Amino acid sequence: MTILVTGAAGFIGAHLCAALSARGHRVIGCDHLRHDDPLLALRRARVAALLAPSGVHLVDADLRDAHACEALVAHGQPRVVVHLAARPGVRDSITDPLGYVGPNLVAFANLLQSCSTQRVARLLFASSSSVYGARSEAPFNEDDRCDRPESFYAATKQANEAMAHAFSRTRGLSVSALRFFTVYGPWGRPDMAYFSFAQRICRAQPITLFAGGELWRDFTYIDDVVEAVCRLAERPGGPSWEVLNVGHSRPVQVRTFLATLEAALGRRAQILDAPIQPGDVPMTCADPARLHDAVGALPCTPLETGLQRFVAWLRVWQRSQPEVLPTATAQRVLA
Ligand code: NAD
Repeated sequence: MTILVTGAAGFIGAHLCAALSARGHRVIGCDHLRHDDPLLALRRARVAALLAPSGVHLVDADLRDAHACEALVAHGQPRVVVHLAARPGVRDSITDPLGYVGPNLVAFANLLQSCSTQRVARLLFASSSSVYGARSEAPFNEDDRCDRPESFYAATKQANEAMAHAFSRTRGLSVSALRFFTVYGPWGRPDMAYFSFAQRICRAQPITLFAGGELWRDFTYIDDVVEAVCRLAERPGGPSWEVLNVGHSRPVQVRTFLATLEAALGRRAQILDAPIQPGDVPMTCADPARLHDAVGALPCTPLETGLQRFVAWLRVWQRSQPEVLPTATAQRVLA
């Protein structure tokens, strides 16, 4: 099967391309490698380490450009599209909301239009646990109310779900909206808390712990996410519209998470306390039942195992290409 993966030089996209290719699919990767992107070197390194050995060709295209988007889909003729390209991150969306309109809204509208005109059999796209907003009743079910976003990033993901639902109703496009819950692992994003915490602990720099570390997060290991997405992409048929949580369903407090990370690193953190930040939510916790019904795959990698694998990768990475990682990466919590 031919599968187009957008955001292929990103964290989840690069792992997904490699896995789909290993399962025998013809994979077309798309990303927009901007020269002014502070993470450009990391994206290129992911392409070299994960896409190139799998024979996955990367098309450099900006999906905000409707013609480029249409040409990508028309030329590749994918049966399934997995759309991961976006600008992630809650915190930046508070200071720079307009910077999210192009990658998260315009690009998504272009992709919906191209998938529809090119008769793509199914579109799977990355939504986010952030659409659930600030709530502490767990677990989060796909039918729960999701109309009170706490950040502009969450609002763009909520808007993506509405836009995709409209296309499924009016243009016959089959769509799966995948609500990812705090994905972590090797080749991850330096702007996410687990990554910046690890870097700062390694450098003996203090870390800022918000809300006394009492926020709960449903950390989900990258391999589990990739397995779930592969199975969803390979499913014959499927409903014309569905929303699925993709999460571990075992939330831990950030303080507990930090202790697990300290154990994996063999070092203690210096902690600076700070109040909860705008955009942060007290808890995320996926109800896994619907994903289980769809593909039988449940994210299951224990946090200890996942963090040990991340730390093993980070050690090699820091030794081989230390200049790639921004030295003063701001600490931000969670996509
Ligand atoms: P990432 O930033 O590593 O990957 C996103 C990729 O999209 C980047 O490589 C970027 O260059 C590309 N991109 C951005 N704008 C583009 C454009 N206009 N045209 C083409 N490519 C473009 O992020 P990730 O962590 O791999 O996340 C993948 C998706 O999952 C995103 O949509 C994100 O919002 C969503 N998500 C991630 C998490 C998480 O914990 N990582 C949680 C919830 C949702």
